[in-house]
Amino acid sequence: MNITRRQAAAALTGALGLAQVKAQQRGAQPPEVHAVWAGASDAGASVESVRAFVAQLKRANIHKLVMCAKEGNGNVCWHSQRFPQLIAPRYKDFDLVENLVREAHGQGIEVHIWLIDFSEGENGAAFREHPEWAQVSAEGKRTNSETLLDRAYHAVWMCPAQRPGYTDQWLLPLIEELVSRYPVDGIHHDYVRYAGDVAPDTYCFCDYCLKQLPRHALLRWETGPRERQRVEIVRPRLEANWEATPDMLPPGWEQFDRREKADFFLNGRTLAGGPPDMRYFFYEYRVDQIARFVREACERARRINPKIQMTAAVFKNPIQSGRYLGQKWSDWTPWIDAFMPMNYRSHFLGDFDTYLAHLTEITARQMEWTRHEKPLYSGIFTSDLYKEEAASHTYPPEKLTRAIEAARAAKPDGIVIFSAGTLSRQNLWPQLEAVLVG
Ligand SMILES: [Zn+2]
Repeated sequence: MNITRRQAAAALTGALGLAQVKAQQRGAQPPEVHAVWAGASDAGASVESVRAFVAQLKRANIHKLVMCAKEGNGNVCWHSQRFPQLIAPRYKDFDLVENLVREAHGQGIEVHIWLIDFSEGENGAAFREHPEWAQVSAEGKRTNSETLLDRAYHAVWMCPAQRPGYTDQWLLPLIEELVSRYPVDGIHHDYVRYAGDVAPDTYCFCDYCLKQLPRHALLRWETGPRERQRVEIVRPRLEANWEATPDMLPPGWEQFDRREKADFFLNGRTLAGGPPDMRYFFYEYRVDQIARFVREACERARRINPKIQMTAAVFKNPIQSGRYLGQKWSDWTPWIDAFMPMNYRSHFLGDFDTYLAHLTEITARQMEWTRHEKPLYSGIFTSDLYKEEAASHTYPPEKLTRAIEAARAAKPDGIVIFSAGTLSRQNLWPQLEAVLVG
C-alpha cells in the first residue's frame, strides 16, 4: 500500500548518499549530518502540530529526525495491528508515524523511529502479559524491586536472552511491523543493553540464563562422561591448564539454588586455586545476547527493506559499556549504519572546559573504536550543558555553540542533539539554526 511513499523514501536516502559519494570523489569532506532526538509530545497529535514541528526542523537544517515511538512505558505511537494494546491513548485517533513520515519527507527530512528496546514499564502490556520474560536477580527479584537514590525504580528490564521471549516474540515483530507498514528511513535502538544505572552486575539470572550461561561458554560437556573431569596439571602455570577444557562447574552444581549459581558466575574460578575469573564468561554472555539482537533486528529489517538504516544511541565507551551493560557497540559495525553515542556532559566529570576537551577526545576515540567503518554522530544533550546555571535557569546560547564546535573538532560524520523538547524549553532553536545553517 505504501509503494509510492517507500520509493520516495528510498530516493531521499539515495540523494543524501549520492551527495556524500560526490563529495568523496572530489576529495572533499562529506557534508556534516545533522540529527535531532525528539519525543512524541514535540510533534503533538494533529497534522498542524506535526507540520509546525517539521518546519522548525527544516529551519535548523536537520537532515534526520530520530523520533521516539516505543516509549519507556512500553506504549507505541503508531497504529500497531500486531499489538493494538500498545497504542498510546493520545494516539488512538492519530497515527504519529504515518503523519510524521509524510510531512517530514515532504520537506526532505528522514524519519528514524526510535525504540526503547529492553526497558519496559511495570504497568506495560509486555510485562503484564509475560512476567516470565523479565530479568531476574540472584534473589529471584525483578528490576522494579530496586531502589535508586532512595527512590523506587519502576522500570522492568526484559531478558534479552530468552527464546522464545521478549526479544523474538515482541521487540523484533514490532520492528518488522514498522519497516513493512511505513516508509520509515531507519530504526533507532535505545536501551539496547542491560541495566547500568541501577544494577550493572545483578542481572540476568532467570531460569533460562542459569541454564544457558554454562552452555554458552561450554563449561561442562553435555556428551559426558557422567563423572566430573578434573583439571590435569601438566603445565607449571595453573591457568595454562585451561585448554583441555575440564569440567568448570563446581561439584553438586545441579543442587545449587539461584543465589549459589549467581555467586559462582560473579565470584567463582574457572580453575580451582586460580584467579576469580568466572565473571568474564558472565560479561561475555551478556555482550553476545545484545549483539545477537542487534544483528537479528538488522537482518529482519533489511529483508523487508534493504535500504533501511539501523542506528543506535550508545554509551560513550564501548569497551567499558561491554563490561557494565553488555553494550560492546564497537562490534556492531556490520549491523549499524550510524552510531549516535550519548556524549552528554552528565556522563563526564569536571567543569565545562574539561567537558569540551573530553568531548573532542571521546568523539575521536569512538571513531577509532569503530575503525571508521560506519558514520558516527556525536550526541550532545543541551540541558546538561547548563550545570553552572542551574539556579538561575538561564541558557547562554554560546555554550551550545562551543559544545558543537568541540565535537566538530574531532571531525565526526555528524552531530545529533538531544532533544527537540529541551531546545524549545531553553529557547535554543535560534542558536542551533545559527550554528547548523551558517
Ligand atoms: Zn535471563
